[in-house]
Amino acid sequence: MGEAIHSLSISRLAARLAGGEVSPGEVTEALLARIKARDGELNTYITVDEAGARAMAQEAAAMLARGEATPLTGIPLALKDVMVTRGLKTTCGSRILANFIPPYDATVCARLRRAGAVFLGKVNMDEFAMGSSTENSAFGPSRNPWNRDYIPGGSSGGSAAAVAADLCIASLGSDTGGSIRQPASLCGVVGLKPTYGRVSRYGLVAYASSLDQIGPLTKEVRDAAILLQAIAGHDPKDSTSVPAPVPDYEERLGREITGMKIGVPREFFGAGLDPEVEAAVQEALQTLTSLGAELVEISLPHTEYAVAVYYVLAVAEASSNLARYDGVKYGFRAEGKNLLEVYAQTRAQGFGAEVRRRIMLGTYALSAGYYEAYYKKASQVRALIRRDFEAAFRQCQVIATPVSPTPAFRLGEKVDDPLTMYLSDIFTISANLGGIPGISVPCGFSSRGLPIGLQLMGPVFGEADLLQAAYAFEQATDFHRRKPPF
Ligand code: GLN
Repeated sequence: MGEAIHSLSISRLAARLAGGEVSPGEVTEALLARIKARDGELNTYITVDEAGARAMAQEAAAMLARGEATPLTGIPLALKDVMVTRGLKTTCGSRILANFIPPYDATVCARLRRAGAVFLGKVNMDEFAMGSSTENSAFGPSRNPWNRDYIPGGSSGGSAAAVAADLCIASLGSDTGGSIRQPASLCGVVGLKPTYGRVSRYGLVAYASSLDQIGPLTKEVRDAAILLQAIAGHDPKDSTSVPAPVPDYEERLGREITGMKIGVPREFFGAGLDPEVEAAVQEALQTLTSLGAELVEISLPHTEYAVAVYYVLAVAEASSNLARYDGVKYGFRAEGKNLLEVYAQTRAQGFGAEVRRRIMLGTYALSAGYYEAYYKKASQVRALIRRDFEAAFRQCQVIATPVSPTPAFRLGEKVDDPLTMYLSDIFTISANLGGIPGISVPCGFSSRGLPIGLQLMGPVFGEADLLQAAYAFEQATDFHRRKPPF
């Protein structure tokens, strides 16, 4: 039918490609043309790789002709600019890597290449994934396609905005404290953070290694299942990836959720929650009930410590991970009279203010005499948060909460107030600390017309449960069908 190519989901576009109604080349040209015409308004791409995308489209056409197509063959994707791509600039949203061209592919990129996907380019993000709005990008903020005066969320804001605005068919992001789910929620798309260890992090530029995971941002739940299927599984190059079998995620879609026990943690519905978000999430819970799910009130008693624990552990790990940017090995270098001055000037000029703040906080938290009081204490509380989840999942299969305490905020509104910015992730951080999967699925709109998301969290390796519940919810509602006025 007359639906434009760029507005299609992965599954519907794959059907057209398989039926020969369109070719990968035509699909790729359609998306490249749309990016050229419209991305100036949103600034979602840092790098558009026209030549690379065309070459990958040709490869996809050959795969289709040989009858070797996968569900991703010929599907144009956008990659968050924090996963390395062979021969294609990878900046992490930072001046310090502004001209960095990696010599190898991240495992997720290599897998997608093998599956025949097309990489349109690399999308915008907060510098080194530190932020909740993309305003910390060295390449300027992205904008929310639902209202360009508003932020798209972050740190995978370029991914979420590009998916919502049909500037790609789907995207990969990374999530350390909410960076897939929060922007997905604020842009009205689906975002899935897998279990820690489900997806290889080889070639994902490290922010906080005990928390980082890669996952899909998509227009629909089915697409999240398809993309996860392609990237999940053990990788000998990442010792934190788990050699557990990968289930068939699509197979669970469409199954009823009658009798599914859904936990509602009382700590996630308190002060600070925007009334419109609360109303949308409460209505979503009613929808789940009407589909046969059973709501159970649960408690995650250590929730109030999650943000504090995260901002000790994440910055400590970041200060160590970011020590490698010294102007010698790769990336930007400032000149100086001696080696020490080269280091100091490179890091002072190469990193933005938020990254510098976190390196200093993390270095402080790890310094002699303070380690016990901060890092060690935070690790102990993290264990309690993990235990809260283990206890909760004895009472329910899935936990339902808001994703973000508010809908998208205005550009500039929180840039001078890091503490308020940090609270954007109050509902998403726990899943990272617990190592468990979480998904954001569209569940409403504010009176200003800005999207609101529902978060579902599951036990370790519970992605199939999340996808099943999220799909049932999506099919019973029509929020995912609405397109931004872009
Ligand atoms: N907003 C959080 C932070 O600034 C989470 C970022 C992320 O998940 N990468 O650290």
